[in-house]
Amino acid sequence: VEIGAVALAIVESIRDMIDRDADELGRLDAIAGDGDHGIGMQRGARAGAAAASDAVAAGAGVGTVLSRAGDAWADKAGGTSGALWGAALRAAGERLGDELRPQAADVASAVDAARAAIQGYGKAAVGDKTMVDALVPFAQGLSARVAAGEALAPAWVAAAVDATDAAEATSALLPRLGRARPHMEKSLGTPDPGAISLARAMTVAGRVLA
Ligand code: ADP
Ligand code: MG
Ligand code: MG
Repeated sequence: VEIGAVALAIVESIRDMIDRDADELGRLDAIAGDGDHGIGMQRGARAGAAAASDAVAAGAGVGTVLSRAGDAWADKAGGTSGALWGAALRAAGERLGDELRPQAADVASAVDAARAAIQGYGKAAVGDKTMVDALVPFAQGLSARVAAGEALAPAWVAAAVDATDAAEATSALLPRLGRARPHMEKSLGTPDPGAISLARAMTVAGRVLA
């Protein structure tokens, strides 16, 4: 299978997950935020998947597919998470390039570039109750497993389990950044919506790779 088509399948799997879970993500964001996380992610993921599909149809390589998806996602999603998802996809695409046969270490490096882009733009650290709380364990777990010689698919799936645990654990945290900050105390006991959506995205992406 062409690697650009795998990237498209991953973005489409994220779009389908968001289509399924948008209402739930919106309700999570409404508890301490403004309630638009589901609808914003839905606009972004749909636009990202459409742009990725166009790029694959035009014969683009994997890096271009991801970069186009990121541009469209940021453009259409609106909101903090849309800008960050767009930057992450672009950074991953730029790191991967249009290589025909990237190795597992290249993919882990691209995921870490996405993490660095999100932390560079958003300035969040682990513990601030954002998507970074799921992304950092995902990127670190993937890199460590791949460096230890594990194949990409099982390493990705195991890292997605770590990300899911970390996203759920944000329930116990108080937000320090973003829109949820004015409603800090209401957020206690509820996980961060951006961390939950990110962990679910990595989980469905792992099913594509496996
Ligand atoms: P908005 O906050 O603009 O309404 P969304 O509701 O779509 O955007 O996304 C909210 C999510 O964005 C939060 O749950 C959090 O995970 C993430 N987020 C907010 N600010 C930051 C930041 N500075 N760095 C990383 N992630 C952030
Ligand atoms: Mg919101
Ligand atoms: Mg908003």
